[in-house]
Amino acid sequence: MEAQTRERIGRIIANGKKVVILSHISPDGDALGSSLGMRHVIACQSDKEVHVIVPNSFPDFLGWLPGASDIVIYEKDSAKAEALLNEADTVICTDFNEPKRIGALGQKMSDVIAEKDESIQVLIIDHHIMPQTSSLPEQDNIVKIINSDSPSASQLVYEALVGDGGNIPYGKDFATCIYTGMMTDTGNFSFNSNHPEMYRIVGELVAAGIDKDAIYNRVFNSWSEGRMRLVGYCLNNKMRVFEEHHTALIYLSGKELYRFNFKSGDAEGIVNMPLSIKDVYYSCFMREDKVTEAEKVFANGSKKKIKISMRSQGDRPVNIFCHDIFNGGGHKNASGGEYYGPLEEAVKLFIDNYAKYFK
Ligand code: 5GP
Ligand code: MN
Repeated sequence: MEAQTRERIGRIIANGKKVVILSHISPDGDALGSSLGMRHVIACQSDKEVHVIVPNSFPDFLGWLPGASDIVIYEKDSAKAEALLNEADTVICTDFNEPKRIGALGQKMSDVIAEKDESIQVLIIDHHIMPQTSSLPEQDNIVKIINSDSPSASQLVYEALVGDGGNIPYGKDFATCIYTGMMTDTGNFSFNSNHPEMYRIVGELVAAGIDKDAIYNRVFNSWSEGRMRLVGYCLNNKMRVFEEHHTALIYLSGKELYRFNFKSGDAEGIVNMPLSIKDVYYSCFMREDKVTEAEKVFANGSKKKIKISMRSQGDRPVNIFCHDIFNGGGHKNASGGEYYGPLEEAVKLFIDNYAKYFK
């Protein structure tokens, strides 16, 4: 990251007294790692009040992250979240750049930013390219660091705050959060992971005292029996493979999820599994979900939401398909979208369109 950019970020943090850090809906390891990592560094400074707010709950396998228990969940405590936003002089968005990605909380954020105009500082640190750039206005008080080449927002937070020379002191909590985000967004360094710089940072974080092996176990080896059986069911009973187009599809109804005592995070990783089949390069996983309070603004009255996740290998984009067909986007090899309506309709949309995009 350029020294000039880091200076701008440094100034925002130095000036902020009441800081709110936001991250995206259905928070994953990178959403929490980047926002909590940012929080740990800012909270070290005694003149600052800093809170992390996310739209909805996060999975249990991330609940151990240092600082996670202090996160304000908008869906559960919207009054507190809104009061914090009303009082904030600084808003930091990590791992998303478009207000839409955080549902009703995004609307509130946009209103507060518009109302306070130049008296609020806004910093966006993200690595998503679709939508290409945030719809927030281009103004001096709004700094957007959107780097789609970066494998994780957590790495960008490290680069923004610590930089090349490791010139700010940081503790084990910061290091643990950043490492968790870097690890989860690269599938434990198995995709988007050919960046030498990433391993230099990992080396620094290990030197700062993180327990890399314990973090792996907490995140990846803490499955419930139901989750393990759900995966078996998906692969044995639900996976369809369209050989000619090197594509696999798995979809689950609400009833099926209920049968396996589904909890948030249980579907994590299922979408990647069909890519282990030789000659399958594209994979899609869909599941039915309820429309949350935060998402009602997009639902057009539908009570059901279909969450779509896609993965691919190599130079085969899935973000364009997700953007065109499911109003979503993301990275070339990992993207997603949503469909508000019955599962069968979303499946039909997929079947009718995949062959045009996937070869
Ligand atoms: P996941 O499949 O893990 O939910 O999401 C993978 C990636 O796809 C995310 O990091 C994000 O970049 C992108 N993504 C997932 N869902 C959406 C969505 O509804 N809209 C957009 N724009 N991107 C999404
Ligand atoms: Mn991310």
